[in-house]
Amino acid sequence: SEWTPETGWADPTVKPYGPLMLDPATAVLHYAQEIFEGLKAYAHADGSIWTFRPDANAARFQRSAHRLALPELPEDWFIGSIDALVTTDRSWVPTGGETSLYLRPFMYASEAFLGVRPSKHVTYCVIASPAGAYFAGGMKPVNIWLSREYARAGSGGTGAAKCGGNYASSLLPQQIAAEHGCDQVVFLDSEEHQWIEELGGMNLYFVHDDGTIVTPASDSILEGITRDAIGTIAGDLGYKVEQRRFGIDEWIDGVASGHVTEVFACGTAAVVTQVGALRWPDGEAVTDVDGAGSVTMAIREALIDVQYGRAEDKHGWMHRIA
Ligand code: PMP
Repeated sequence: SEWTPETGWADPTVKPYGPLMLDPATAVLHYAQEIFEGLKAYAHADGSIWTFRPDANAARFQRSAHRLALPELPEDWFIGSIDALVTTDRSWVPTGGETSLYLRPFMYASEAFLGVRPSKHVTYCVIASPAGAYFAGGMKPVNIWLSREYARAGSGGTGAAKCGGNYASSLLPQQIAAEHGCDQVVFLDSEEHQWIEELGGMNLYFVHDDGTIVTPASDSILEGITRDAIGTIAGDLGYKVEQRRFGIDEWIDGVASGHVTEVFACGTAAVVTQVGALRWPDGEAVTDVDGAGSVTMAIREALIDVQYGRAEDKHGWMHRIA
């Protein structure tokens, strides 16, 4: 759908996938006025189709729109547009294993002009794309590179919004991580360079030997919907969940002393992933050497079972599409 201040939002339409034609002066290409979301539609064993907490994605999309000076979507549009797209052809939603239909709503500045101000023409789209199981060859712990040189976001910046620019700034550190044999990069806060923020595309949890699990508090990270759900699930499973500032030294020393027994990352794409090694230029902290990750795996199973309809949806998280 298209928006202008005069006309508001036009009625959305479903179209076959294909390229967009953009004027070279289109604002998004120059000033990155763009936001997006990512969520999945799951087919349950009885053939019904569901999304997981789309209301949370919708609310985050509106918050991102506000931060990027983009117009809000009309109430119910976010969920409505996804439901309309998915019901166009139910067979788009793969069945079996941990497969899903990945949905990517996004909104961008589509006015062509060369000046720095909010665009007066905005486009909203949703892409649907089938996703296989994230860990096709079985889950193996990911290794993480500590970025001391680059921050992802700063206080007052766009870190809490899901906007393309945040990902542009994390590409170089991500590339450096790969050069050091790591799958992901972990960012620290931009002021004191000691507080854990998040990975390039996932939030973190630290499992402690006293049954506490800690996730970093920060106003410049993306508040993951998976992270939030895991906080609730871990509580249900009897863990004490804390959201507080968590320092890089606490990670390294916690692993060395055995107080931090498991570290895991979480997000829509991979759900929950064990972290193996944390690496930096002259050192390494390796968690959970035997790779069992029993707490991580229990939380992962509990969450996936809700998403795939194998466990009771106690918290009313699932939204039925068809
Ligand atoms: N942090 C960042 C930077 C991300 O891109 C994502 C993925 N959306 C997450 C955290 C995890 O968020 P969610 O659980 O909502 O997918």
